[in-house]
Amino acid sequence: MTATASSKPASVVVVGSINMDMVSHSPRLPAPGETLVGEAFVMAPGGKGANQAVAAARLGAEVAFVSRVGTRQHGAELLAALGAEGVHTAAVATDATALPGIAVIMVASQGGENSIVYVPGSNAQLSAADVEQAKAVLQAARVVVAQLEVPQPAIAHAFALARAAGVTTILNAAPALPVNAELLAQTQWLVLNETEAGQMAGMPSASLEQVRAAAEALLARGPGQVVVTLGAQGVLLCSAQQGAQHLPAQRVTAVDTVGAGDTFVGGLATGLAEGWAPADAVRLGQAAAALAVSRAGVQTAMPRRAELAAELQ
Ligand code: ADP
Repeated sequence: MTATASSKPASVVVVGSINMDMVSHSPRLPAPGETLVGEAFVMAPGGKGANQAVAAARLGAEVAFVSRVGTRQHGAELLAALGAEGVHTAAVATDATALPGIAVIMVASQGGENSIVYVPGSNAQLSAADVEQAKAVLQAARVVVAQLEVPQPAIAHAFALARAAGVTTILNAAPALPVNAELLAQTQWLVLNETEAGQMAGMPSASLEQVRAAAEALLARGPGQVVVTLGAQGVLLCSAQQGAQHLPAQRVTAVDTVGAGDTFVGGLATGLAEGWAPADAVRLGQAAAALAVSRAGVQTAMPRRAELAAELQ
């Protein structure tokens, strides 16, 4: 089904990356200098920002994307694909001379190991000035979401504009990178997986108790809520007022867990934009992510709202 962006203001604004993933499948990974004959090749839109925008749009949120996209080669196609999901792309800065982000992914069909080279392209060029151009869109939202695949000064500016207008900010601190103090100060919801939480806190995160201690250390740095995703173990939701709450994941047969975190964040943002209580918004993200991991692909696996249980409609 092809959707087109409506003229309603977006309730969820995603500030982030967009990439083309180029995935080859071969019996094993090639050794340095070796050429192998592959079995299959797939190109699919990706990037944490675009993935989260698609996840939220499929769940029924009105979503706008703020990004910088080089429209050489696959860039124009990427933007068109996002638009076809109903995501507003008018606030995206385009650059006809630049390349979009590209991830070259080799997957071994025996064992599932992979090797990835990621070339950020135009994602690395998103500036605070680009974000300023999207001020009206950001300030009309209910929730602004970002990840760490675009420069932090641009995200910090987006969050400052959002906060000035009373808009909720969610930082998905992935991939694991040090987060600027200025950005953290504007972050109300910090979402990250257990590995990222351990690295950011500088603490071990192997057990639930250790994750809880790491989350408490991160709470002390300023966010009102810290959400640590634990794969098949679910989510630890922590706030200074409510303490820590472990929300177990739905039991599903996992087929492809790539993109689980992105689907979760899209669902969380959708729930918060609808005014849901924190634990309910987390449950919406979990239900969407559980369905996504039970199917192959990243964006293709993300569910629509009607597929979720009645209490989450
Ligand atoms: P990331 O992709 O960032 O590493 P996780 O693997 O922690 O994120 O997954 C995010 C969320 O997706 C989890 O908190 C959980 O709710 C859901 N999820 C992930 N893997 C599974 C699984 N095997 N079964 C059920 N739910 C899952």
